[in-house]
Amino acid sequence: MTDAPDAPTTQRTLVLVKPDGVRRGLSGEIVRRIEAKGYTLVAVELREADEALLAEHYAEHAGKPFLTPLVEFMRSGPVLAVVAEGHRVIEGFRSLAGATDPTVAAPGTIRGDLGRDWGLKVIQNLVHGSDSEESAAREIALWFPAL
Ligand code: UDP
Repeated sequence: MTDAPDAPTTQRTLVLVKPDGVRRGLSGEIVRRIEAKGYTLVAVELREADEALLAEHYAEHAGKPFLTPLVEFMRSGPVLAVVAEGHRVIEGFRSLAGATDPTVAAPGTIRGDLGRDWGLKVIQNLVHGSDSEESAAREIALWFPAL
């Protein structure tokens, strides 16, 4: 027997509330938006990420000039790591997050509503969201090996 054509397929994504979001007290608001959109929380953990974890997490950016300041920023305080689940959640959370640059991210998005440019070497844009199924699987295994 095959699934009905419109049967939802479950997908998971890794969301990080970055240290700027945690520091500014926006973790709850960001999690609220994920839940309000209709996605399910699978795991939530406040933690301090070490350099090895972040080097792996940002492996695709190896060699880029912003990598060192980015890792330093991500180590400047705790991050809230979240696994969210739902049909098309990877694309859905990227849409909730908005464009990388919070100055031009659309109003209505997390970065557009809550972020701005602080004139620093790293773009502090409140959240990370996996950008593909492959990245999501890799990142969830990295942050939540028990899942
Ligand atoms: N970043 C930065 N300068 C850049 C590009 C990226 O500081 O020129 C930072 C920013 O915090 C971004 C992260 O590096 O969120 C990862 O970059 P990516 O291109 O994957 O953006 P995202 O998927 O987070 O929108």
